[in-house]
Amino acid sequence: MTDIKNSAFQSDGADILSMTADELADFASKELGEKPYRGRQLYGWLQKGASYEEMTNLPTSFKEKLLQKCEYRLPKIVEKYVSRLDGTVKYLMQMLDGECVESVLMKYEHGNTVCVSCQAGCRMGCRFCASTLNGKSRDLRASEILGQIINIARDSKERVDGVVMMGIGEPLDNYENTVKFLKLVSSPDGLGIGLRHISVSTCGIVPKIKQLAGEGMPVTLSVSLHASDDSVRSSLIPMNRKYNIDELLDACKYYFDVTGRRVSFEYTLISGENDSLDDADRLAFVLKRKMDGPCHVNLIMLNEVKETKYQSSGRERAELFCKRLTSRGVTATIRRRLGADISASCGQLRLRYQ
Ligand code: SAH
Repeated sequence: MTDIKNSAFQSDGADILSMTADELADFASKELGEKPYRGRQLYGWLQKGASYEEMTNLPTSFKEKLLQKCEYRLPKIVEKYVSRLDGTVKYLMQMLDGECVESVLMKYEHGNTVCVSCQAGCRMGCRFCASTLNGKSRDLRASEILGQIINIARDSKERVDGVVMMGIGEPLDNYENTVKFLKLVSSPDGLGIGLRHISVSTCGIVPKIKQLAGEGMPVTLSVSLHASDDSVRSSLIPMNRKYNIDELLDACKYYFDVTGRRVSFEYTLISGENDSLDDADRLAFVLKRKMDGPCHVNLIMLNEVKETKYQSSGRERAELFCKRLTSRGVTATIRRRLGADISASCGQLRLRYQ
């Protein structure tokens, strides 16, 4: 059963949406006195976000037991914004205990991607990020991360082809629920989203990167690098004081060697902090020296947060930076900014709502 390590979430019921099909089969027979296949039927329904009434092939007696003994409620959509520019949809979703997180549906030519949050708030303290301003309230359960996608699929009636864990929170600081979520969301009898279409983004918790490499789940690792020099990186990302760039890149190389998956690096351009051409040269140098293989740099335009002092570098500088990296043999692209009119980057909506 799911453990809620750090939880303001009070509920006596079993968290059935956090269970795999096997776990539900077991739960149905051991806890509810039903045949295991009933648990598997239930699993299929839960993954679609069906209500108990909609579960037409389950006997009423079974559903009554579920109502008594289980906790099953999807997060509630409390706000929704649709971008007029590109159709991006941003949601504010509320958990059972009132905590809110943000999730985003992004439409690309190659398919739809959902960005999910994994914690209510964040305790990583990255200086330019809105999600961390008030610290972390609690971890989300696997069911609460999954519930964001189920909600979006139901609300938008769109197919979800890919997932990025780039919303509020640090996935590797909520490791067990993240891994459980990855298992559920990729399960062929559930949403069936291929692990290769899922990205897990981290500020660089080195031992957890190594642990993730051993899970046998070939997700794309996205590492928030944002600097090529330890003093700059430490001034932006406190986690760098614990695990420096050298150790982080060693862990990335290890991830690549074990999983065969190309690691991608996120680099948010911040005016006067990390955006000089010397920074680009140093970045190319350290990546080539350490990674010695395929990797990719995603350049991100800073989304200015008024509580912080940081300013965006501007498009022109970003293009120069990108060209410089490419000329030094590192593949790089500037990330397209979706939903610019609805402030689709995460963290600010939750802050406002709080
Ligand atoms: N905790 C994870 C996920 C964070 S959000 C991580 O650190 O990777 C996903 C990306 O957005 C990260 O690279 C993060 O550093 C970046 N980010 C956070 N705030 C930003 C902002 N204001 N502008 C641009 N990028 C930002």
